[in-house]
Amino acid sequence: MPNKILIVDDQKGVRRLLEELFKKEGWSVYIAADGLEAISMVKEAIPDIVLMDMKMPNMNGLESSAVILKEFPDMIIIMMTAYGEMDVVKKALEVGVKRCITKPFDILSMRDLVNELVLEKVS
Ligand SMILES: [Mg+2]
Repeated sequence: MPNKILIVDDQKGVRRLLEELFKKEGWSVYIAADGLEAISMVKEAIPDIVLMDMKMPNMNGLESSAVILKEFPDMIIIMMTAYGEMDVVKKALEVGVKRCITKPFDILSMRDLVNELVLEKVS
């Protein structure tokens, strides 16, 4: 069963919230605070799924996802965007991001979406 999740967000509060949620659900949780860290963490941990914030310093979520998907085309990435960023959403889906979810999101919907996408891949 898939059990490794990478959480990427420059906001500590968001990282902590998602980390607690997924740890409680039995996932091994990996953390990155920007797009560059996300790339090295993906190579190191090879997660089953990545929750990727869009707006971050150093490298944003779109650029980071593009780099990750070039090397790992099957990587499941969920991007967390701000309300109204339709152009970003479009570009994200074009580079291979599976879903975009608007912040602020309901954490239980996020949990359900993660489970849905990883199970889809397994089956
Ligand atoms: Mg951010």
